[in-house]
Amino acid sequence: MAPRSVPAASASGSKAAAAPPPSPRLNATERRVALEVINVEVRNCQRCGELAASRTQTVFGVGNLNPRLCFFGEAPGADEDRLGMPFVGRAGQLLDKIIEAMGLKRDDVYILNVLKCRPPNNRVPAEDEVENCRGFFERQLEVLQPEFICCLGATAAKTLLHSGFSLGKMRGRFFTVGNAQALVTYHPAYLLRNPAAKKDTWEDIQMLMRAMGLPTK
Ligand code: SF4
Repeated sequence: MAPRSVPAASASGSKAAAAPPPSPRLNATERRVALEVINVEVRNCQRCGELAASRTQTVFGVGNLNPRLCFFGEAPGADEDRLGMPFVGRAGQLLDKIIEAMGLKRDDVYILNVLKCRPPNNRVPAEDEVENCRGFFERQLEVLQPEFICCLGATAAKTLLHSGFSLGKMRGRFFTVGNAQALVTYHPAYLLRNPAAKKDTWEDIQMLMRAMGLPTK
């Protein structure tokens, strides 16, 4: 059963759909096994011919298997492709700072991407690649059942929320995705290129922290 998105405040451009009943929560062992089953499929996946041929390895996801919060990014970059872990380059270091500023540790959250393979030259994922990989991240989220999902960047947000809106129009509110609350902010790689947007991201993160009951000082 795939998670579907329902905007908290409905507006044109988003495909609102009735959320299905949430799946039963799995125990820790069941989660680990279920994720490994998906990971084996990912490692053997050849659906996107160009990406499968050019990847060093697939990048599945990492973190707490019983997370309150998942960070959902776009696709592996060069460092991630080399190391097989999401968000380990400069953008990953900035994400670590964001997590730390929330009063959390990287081990407290789970981090995954839309695509499990690096697009050549870090190009934006093609629509067919996103759809090819959709089943994998939807199943990951179904196993993990986070309370909150933070979409990092437009590709992650549009993909998870089935929305045609710009990132700017999706910020500042929560969307229901299955039994999680999702919000949208800028991708750390964008923040590295546009440091002025860090202020907006911090506003988004503080909104998330308030919803999670974390102290914002
Ligand atoms: S990006 Fe996803 S769907 Fe495409 S080849 Fe990699 S694992 Fe398969």
